[in-house]
Amino acid sequence: MFTDRELRELLALSAVEPVLSVYLNMDPTAGNADFYKLRLRNLLKTVELPADVQAVEHYINNEFNWVGRSIAIFSCSPQNFFKAYSLAIPVRDLAVAGMRPAVKPLADLLDDYGGYGVALVDKQGARLFHFHLGELQEQEGVMGELVKHVKRGGASSMPGRRGGIAGRTRHQEELVERNIKDITSFSVQFFEQNNIRRVLIGGTDENTAQFKAELPKFWQALVLGTFPMAMTASHSEVLAKAMQIGQESQRSHEARRVNELITLASKGSNATLGMEKVLGQVHQGSVQTLFVTENYSQAGYVCSDCGWITVQEKEQCDQCSASLRAVEDVVELAVASVWQQGGEVVFTHGNSALAAAGSLGAILRY
Ligand SMILES: [Zn+2]
Repeated sequence: MFTDRELRELLALSAVEPVLSVYLNMDPTAGNADFYKLRLRNLLKTVELPADVQAVEHYINNEFNWVGRSIAIFSCSPQNFFKAYSLAIPVRDLAVAGMRPAVKPLADLLDDYGGYGVALVDKQGARLFHFHLGELQEQEGVMGELVKHVKRGGASSMPGRRGGIAGRTRHQEELVERNIKDITSFSVQFFEQNNIRRVLIGGTDENTAQFKAELPKFWQALVLGTFPMAMTASHSEVLAKAMQIGQESQRSHEARRVNELITLASKGSNATLGMEKVLGQVHQGSVQTLFVTENYSQAGYVCSDCGWITVQEKEQCDQCSASLRAVEDVVELAVASVWQQGGEVVFTHGNSALAAAGSLGAILRY
C-alpha cells in the first residue's frame, strides 16, 4: 500500500545520481500486457539512464504480477534504489529522469483518494470500511449494547413497540443512547487505527445525523458528507461511492487551480494561456506549473538541436536555426520537459474553463 510514509521515503531520497520515475497506465480498457509493455518501451526510449531503464523493464517483464490499473516505479541504480507501487487508480504515462523522484502524481492521488473511512450506520450498529487509493483495506462491523440486550431479552423488549420514543422507559432511553455511544466510539477507534483522514457516513438522514452528532469534534470536522445507503450494501457499492467523492475532490482541486491560472493570466501577471505561448515558456524553462486538459494532444515540430517545440509548420528553429522534425504530440514533449525542469503538471478532467482557454496554460516561475 502506498501511504504518506512511502511518499516521505521517496521525498527523503537524497540522490546524487539522477532518478528515473516511471508511471504506466494499465487500465484494462486500454489494452493488454503486451500493449503496456510496448508503451513502456516507447516511454523509456527518451530516457538516457540505461541501467535504470533495464531495471524497470526487468521488473515489468519478470517480477510484476499485473495487479492494478497503473504502476509507479522509481529507480536509481547507482544508489541501489528501486521501488515499485501498483495502484488501483489509473494514472497518466510518464517517464522522467531528474535529481528527485517525480512524486507529484502519487501525492495528488493521496490527496484525493487516500484514507477514506466509511461508516454505514443504522439503529443497531455500523459497518466500517477503510478505502485507500481505490482499494478496500479493512472492514469491520459493530453492534451496539442495545442490540446485544435485545438479543438476550427477545424481540418483545424492543423499544418503539410501545409507540416510539414517548413509550420508552428511562432504562430503554439510556440503552439507545449507550448504543450510539458504543457504535461511535468503536468507529473512532477504527478510524484512528487506519489513519483515516476523511469520513463518509451512509444511512438514513436520521441515523447519519445522530452518528455524526455523537462523533468527537475532531472527527466531525473530517466528515466529507453523508449519503443514503442500505446496511446490506456490498463493499463495491460503498467503494464506488468513495471513488465518486474522490473524483469530485479531484475536480474541485483542479477547478481551483485553473481559476488561479486564469485570474493570473487575465491580470497579465506571471501566467500564460494557449499553445504557442506556453511552448515558448517551456523552452525557456520558466514554467512552474503546466496545465493540460487530459487527453489533449497536437502534432507539431521539435528542434533537433535546442529542443524548441512549436505547432507552426516550419523547417527551421526560431531559436537556433537548426532543422525541425515532425512529432505526433507536442503536448507530451512539453509535459516531459516541464517535469525534467522540476516543474509541476496539472492534468484537468473535463474542466471547461481550461478547454475554453486553449487547453494549455502555465503559471510561470517569475
Ligand atoms: Zn533550436
